[in-house]
Amino acid sequence: MEYIYPTYYNNFHCIADACPKTCCAGWQIEIDEDALERYRQLQIDTVDYREAAFLQDEKKRCKNLDEQGLCRLIHAHGEEILCDTCRLFPRHTEVFDGVRELSLSISCPEVARMILTNSDNVVFTTEERVEKETEAYTEEERIVYRQLRQLRDWMLPVAQNRSLSLEQRFAKILSVVQVYQEQVDFCVEEEQPFEAISIADVLTTVVKPLDISKTMIHTILAVADEWEYTEPELQEIFDATDAYLQLLSDEDFSQARKHLSEALQKQGIALPATLEQIYIYFLFAYFCGSVYDEYYFGQAQLAVAACYHIEAILLWHFGKYKSIGMEDIIRYTYLYARELEHSIPNILATEAYMDEHRMI
Ligand code: SF4
Repeated sequence: MEYIYPTYYNNFHCIADACPKTCCAGWQIEIDEDALERYRQLQIDTVDYREAAFLQDEKKRCKNLDEQGLCRLIHAHGEEILCDTCRLFPRHTEVFDGVRELSLSISCPEVARMILTNSDNVVFTTEERVEKETEAYTEEERIVYRQLRQLRDWMLPVAQNRSLSLEQRFAKILSVVQVYQEQVDFCVEEEQPFEAISIADVLTTVVKPLDISKTMIHTILAVADEWEYTEPELQEIFDATDAYLQLLSDEDFSQARKHLSEALQKQGIALPATLEQIYIYFLFAYFCGSVYDEYYFGQAQLAVAACYHIEAILLWHFGKYKSIGMEDIIRYTYLYARELEHSIPNILATEAYMDEHRMI
């Protein structure tokens, strides 16, 4: 079995009671069957056995959390008592034929800090482990995954090429994936085999320009109206951001972007390099997963939109508070990811929206 993961993957350590946004609150924690049976035998009373989930208090905090934010279950029974969700988070695995792609969820504040404070290009490790494939795949899934891997292997260095502006890098990537999507759609319509698609040819696509205007940001922010939210915080931030942007002229918008970038640069934070980290995160974690829902272009645009959604929130924050720092970038990024990546309806709605609302 081939395993691929970013090299920082093994450096993660949960900061537990020092965490500003624990993963033990705000969303339902589902319990796997083995753990549920363990809890039943131990007569653990913080479990909703019908829903296979932990009970929560009125603030949506897991009922196992004590006053210090530590887990009473671990305290009483040791780490082995944990269900898969609690044991594994923030580790995420995407499963493909003969391949496991591992990532750490950026919705965890400590992971967000690790990813966003890294100013270098992310490096990925590939290793073989002796392990048998346990899943079944269709032939189509095998072929499309191979093609998406080829595309992503090309996209990663393009996205990390700092001799180009971020807009130029995204324009190249989106132009290529748009053509790939068109060729897949053509194969489906004409009942042609997917092997007929030449990735080498797709990569020669003529690049269309990407122009980040206020109108475009307003359009891509509108997808947030279709999201379901576990708590109102991010929804209110989105509303405030959109209202703030509406007050700006096109010229004000360009100036606001420039001033934000300069304010961060004074603290040694290069905004394009930080947004690159966000992009690489979403690209690696989810692009190849589009093999299962066929929104290849929508998924590629989702990763780009995530960067501009977060930049728009930073613009609003800087406009409102007149100050900004890495802690703000980290906080808005994990709040954003908490609402997007742990909700299948939100991911699907965003992929579909970004498929229809083309940025190039
Ligand atoms: S969100 Fe991350 S750092 Fe915070 S408690 Fe969960 S795993 Fe630990």
